[in-house]
Amino acid sequence: MHELGLIINIIKQIEKYMKENNLKKVDTLVLQVGKLSEVYPKYLMDVYPFAIEDTLLKDTLLVIEETAGIGKCKSCDFIYNLVENNNECPVCGNKQFTIISGKEFLIKEIHAY
Ligand SMILES: [Zn+2]
Repeated sequence: MHELGLIINIIKQIEKYMKENNLKKVDTLVLQVGKLSEVYPKYLMDVYPFAIEDTLLKDTLLVIEETAGIGKCKSCDFIYNLVENNNECPVCGNKQFTIISGKEFLIKEIHAY
């Protein structure tokens, strides 16, 4: 489980940003997590309360937005949801694709005051 390391890294980035911008408190942290990113939102939620203890984010709410795993078929260029279609193009059945979205793991927004 690498989620703890990831979230600690994110918290450090935000603490740095808060200090640079003289922010006292972040109300909400919104992370964007792609379905193909190998990061499990449930684990992030589980480790988050421990990760924020004794940090500037200790009262900050975590919101996770999941983005779908979308691919483009290398054979017919059809764009489809990889997870729902088991990585197989629903038009031609080809399993070769280019990933268009779903690998994201990033800070989308912070709501601060
Ligand atoms: Zn296809």
